[in-house]
Amino acid sequence: MPEVLFRVDLTKPMEEQELPGHNRWHPDIPAVASVNPGDVFRIECKDWTDGQIKNNDDPSDIRDVNLKRVHVLSGPIWVNGVEPGDLLVVDILDIGPLPQAEWGFNGIFARENGGGFLTDHYPDAAKSIWDFHGIYTSSRHIPGIRFAGIMHPGLIGVAPSHDLLDKWNYREKQLVARNPNRIPALANLPDPDSAVLGSLKGAEFDRVAMEAARTIPPRENGGNCDIKNLSKGSRIYFPVFVKGGKLSVGDLHFSQGDGEITFCGAIEMAGYIDLHVDVIKGGMAKYGITKNPVFKPGPVEPRYSDYLVFEGISVDEFSGKQHYLNAHIAYRQACLNAIEYLKQLGFTGEQAYMILGTAPIEGRIGGIVDVPNACCTIAIPTAIFDQNIIPKLL
Ligand code: ZN
Repeated sequence: MPEVLFRVDLTKPMEEQELPGHNRWHPDIPAVASVNPGDVFRIECKDWTDGQIKNNDDPSDIRDVNLKRVHVLSGPIWVNGVEPGDLLVVDILDIGPLPQAEWGFNGIFARENGGGFLTDHYPDAAKSIWDFHGIYTSSRHIPGIRFAGIMHPGLIGVAPSHDLLDKWNYREKQLVARNPNRIPALANLPDPDSAVLGSLKGAEFDRVAMEAARTIPPRENGGNCDIKNLSKGSRIYFPVFVKGGKLSVGDLHFSQGDGEITFCGAIEMAGYIDLHVDVIKGGMAKYGITKNPVFKPGPVEPRYSDYLVFEGISVDEFSGKQHYLNAHIAYRQACLNAIEYLKQLGFTGEQAYMILGTAPIEGRIGGIVDVPNACCTIAIPTAIFDQNIIPKLL
């Protein structure tokens, strides 16, 4: 087992851990440990909500969740010799749940507190608890399905530079200003409430808390990309914006459908991740990887080969309005069409919504040029169901 650089005690909040992690992005959050290129190490992670969701049948913890606490991250890890302009190479060697916590959760956030992709249709909180059996998972809240997960970090990233952070804050403020009272908000701006900033204290804590970016969206540093195939065997090439790179990770998922449509999210779990790091000096310019990370998924994923595929187009379900090549609306229609179908098989709408968020659902853009409709598809593996879900001729 590799050396554990970051340990978590699941009974304590992130700021009370032996080494406190963080839940904001800022270049001045101090590193918790340093490694050399070539090193292998283990990081333990709490679940993204910092333990707010309990293994029970009551969804009130999802309804009342404090989203200003998310995502609690382990790190930052300083990589010696890494400088802006380099590529930080990160291999995901292994990933799994912690021995005392072999379960995870998925939820539908209430519209007033977080929302989700289909919040107009499912505005109330709901929760499903998932038990792990080796590589398989099933939920007492959604009988009739069982599948193999693809464990991955929902969130892994490097620190932004001060310049890059200023850019994020500027552009996201502009967006929020378009409709400042919208629920859910168009973006989540810096907010000192419930900020955890590693070992920072006093005036320095206050300054950083006012500027630090929330961790909700993916950005140039990687972050909350929620790429379900980023499992063991994957390699990530991060552009480096600060000295040491300052790598952080969290929001581990047992499994997720493309799009992570419920927002809470995948099958969320506490766990460990083993990493190997290396550096390509001057790699950003050399490979033209200057803006966002590049990923090389590993060879490990469940062998599902038979799918039922639902499509959606850029016509919204409320007014029947024609939109122009809008893939967001098209993907929503694909999801709604799949949910309608799964309801006929005996699932509730909420259960179907959570199946699409958790199972290894493949999302695709079929076409993005055939004006005026984008065509988005979601493919559901048929083998995850106890029953045969294919339409019958008689
Ligand atoms: Zn997540």
